[in-house]
Formats: sequence, structure tokens, C-alpha cells
Amino acid sequence: MTETLQITDIPVAGYERVVRGIDPSCGLHAIIAVHDTTLGPALGGLRMWPYASEEEALFDVKRLSRGMTFKSAVAHTGLGGGKAVMIGDPKKIKSEALYLAMGRFIEAVGGKYITAEDVNTSVQDLEIIRRATKHVTGLERKDGGSGNPSPYTAYGVFLGVRAALGWVFGNDSCKGRTVAIQGTGAVGSALAKRLVEAGAKVYGADRNTERLKQLEQEIGLIPTGEAEIMTMKCDVFAPCALGAILHDESIAALNTPIVAGAANNLLLEPRHGKALADRNILYAPDYVINAGGIINVSVEFNPGGYDEKIALGKIERIPQALKELWTIAKEERIPPSDAADRLAERIVADGRGAKKATSCGVPPKGQPRSGG
Ligand code: NAD
Repeated sequence: MTETLQITDIPVAGYERVVRGIDPSCGLHAIIAVHDTTLGPALGGLRMWPYASEEEALFDVKRLSRGMTFKSAVAHTGLGGGKAVMIGDPKKIKSEALYLAMGRFIEAVGGKYITAEDVNTSVQDLEIIRRATKHVTGLERKDGGSGNPSPYTAYGVFLGVRAALGWVFGNDSCKGRTVAIQGTGAVGSALAKRLVEAGAKVYGADRNTERLKQLEQEIGLIPTGEAEIMTMKCDVFAPCALGAILHDESIAALNTPIVAGAANNLLLEPRHGKALADRNILYAPDYVINAGGIINVSVEFNPGGYDEKIALGKIERIPQALKELWTIAKEERIPPSDAADRLAERIVADGRGAKKATSCGVPPKGQPRSGG
């Protein structure tokens, strides 16, 4: 029932478009934030969360969509940044009607926003959304999608961990190195497997003790306490659970020369990038090292469709991107997290400049003026 869906714009400075979608017939209350489409359509996952208020949801969707612009820019996915959130308790409000309404809402944004999986949204939910809009990615391979992104994220993080080892110790081998993984979920467990195969001694902490036990039996992971994982002496601390875990207290207690993991928004505040650098801890900026998943999804836009080889080739550039950032950080005496933000902003600004020049008839750098 399209007519029950009410769409209203929420003007937000610095964002191309932020819209609210409400459909009382099925309890939909959602926000889509299109942060920036300079480099391509805004791709970002759809999160369902029991936000206490629309204000809280708006804060989150703004933060997350901007993060997607930065992540995609540095990973050169050819995509912009966006995100969508649905307000509600997933245990209570999930229904077919709700996802169909969300699909109509996405369709109404006209392809500027493309959705994908995120917290509390499954591939099955995306299948329902797809009945109402074509702007959906991350479906299963059999349905022409790129499938589960987690193994690709884990692969990128694994390569990033090796790059960090090489940077700090002058040798990127995992043999004999100790890695402490916080959160052995989809990404953390795949990362643990790769690290063990490469000869590392892997410690893991997770609230899901069953999963830990299983990994202990399967690959010899050493189950570790939740508090201990963040303070134990190790060569790499790999946070793969929650964001905002790097703050004054936790940074002071770290006993590692490297922090390199999959979780998003690891720094509680931007200044904590400097706090890590002040302790001489090498930080792999989160949205650079964990870009494997978005890179994999972005390959769905290839003219010939999804191709795993292309995805892997692009993911294998993550170590180079990290080394470039660490070099900039060293030369300019800034934290790697600031170097990443600067680089992302520059890539988007260059894209904006090139677009403007093209629309004014000025050829983009290196291209001849048509007819000239
Ligand atoms: P997941 O839900 O499968 O795994 C997270 C794990 O962390 C769970 O097993 C959970 O029990 C555990 N956990 C939660 N709180 C914990 C705590 N305090 N201490 C220890 N363990 C705790 O999620 P995932 O897909 O593996 O993603 C992990 C992180 O990486 C998330 O922050 C996610 O946003 C980020 N990320 C994931 C992808 C991807 O492709 N899945 C891509 C980019 C970033």
C-alpha cells in the first residue's frame, strides 16, 4: 500500500539528502541518509536498532553514512556513502510488510541510496526488500549477489595485520606472533583461522563461549577473558567486536605494539588516534583495514557482474593503502587515523573538482577536451 508510506525530508547541513519514511500500517519508522554521491551511488547497510528516539537514530545514521563515504573513497570502490536505519526492536517488529515498506522507501530515493546487510538485517530480509526495489546488494551468489561479505573483510584484515607486522618488526610473517582477537564472530573467527594457518598463536575472547570452545577444538585458539584480551601482552590486538573501545583508559592499558582489527569506529573520539601514536602503538585505521566487505560488494557493479577474482585483487591492495597512510603519518607527524581522514576528504574533493570541471566543459586531468 504505497499510499500509507509518508516520506519527508530532514534538512541536514553537509549531507546530500536525509529522509524519513513512516508507514503506520506496518510500524515502519526509518531514516535514509545519503551523505555524498560524488564518487558514485551511496551504498551502506540497513541497520535495525531499538533507538530511544528519532534524534538518536538520526545521529547514528549521519555518523555511519559519513563513515561509508570515507571508507569507499579510500578503497576506491567507485561508490559514495549512505546508510539507513529502521527504528525498533528486531525481536518485536520484524515482518514481511515492514521490509516491503522499507523497500518502497528505498525505491523512492531513486537509486541514490543502495542498501545492504547490517546489524539485525539478514540476507532473507534483503530478499523481501528486493521485491520492492532493485537497489539492493549483498544477496546470495545464486541470486546474482556477492554473498556474505565477512570472509572478504577477514581476508583484508589478515593482510592488514601482516602489513602492520612488517611495518613494526621488519618482517610480515605471522610465525610465532601472538594475536589477541576481541570478538570471534563472523569476521573474528575467519581471521583467527587464517592467522593460525599462517603460524600465529591466537587468543580469543567472546561472550559466546560455545563459539570459543569450537574454535579451541578446531584450530587451537586459546580462549581468553573479556578484560584480559585488551591488556594481555601480544604482538597484535585485533578488535573484531564493538566500536568505541579505544579510549583513555583502554589505550593506557594496552600491551601491544599494533592495533589492527575489523570493528568499525574503534576510536571513542578522534583524539584517541593521537593517544595511540603517543604510546608508539601502530594503528591500522578501521575503515581502511576492514574495507574487504564493501570492496567485495562493490564488484557487483562491474559491467560483467560480480567476479570474485576482481574482488580479491582489490582487497589485496589494502596493505599498500595502509603503508601509504603510515608513511604520511610518519612524514607529517600526524596519527594514521587523521592521515586516513585527510586522504578520504582529498579523494572526495578531487572527485567533486573533476565533476565540476566536466560539467563546465573543462576536461578532467589527463583527458582531452572533447572536440579540442
Ligand atoms: P558478529 O556479530 O558476527 O561478531 C561480533 C562478535 O563479538 C560476536 O560473536 C559477539 O558475541 C562478540 N562480542 C560482543 N561484545 C563483546 C565483548 N565485549 N567482548 C568480546 N566479544 C564480544 O559481527 P561481525 O560481522 O564479525 O563484525 C565484527 C565487527 O566488524 C563489527 O564491529 C562490524 O561492524 C565490523 N565489520 C564487519 C564487516 C563484515 O563484513 N561482517 C565489515 C566491516 C566491519
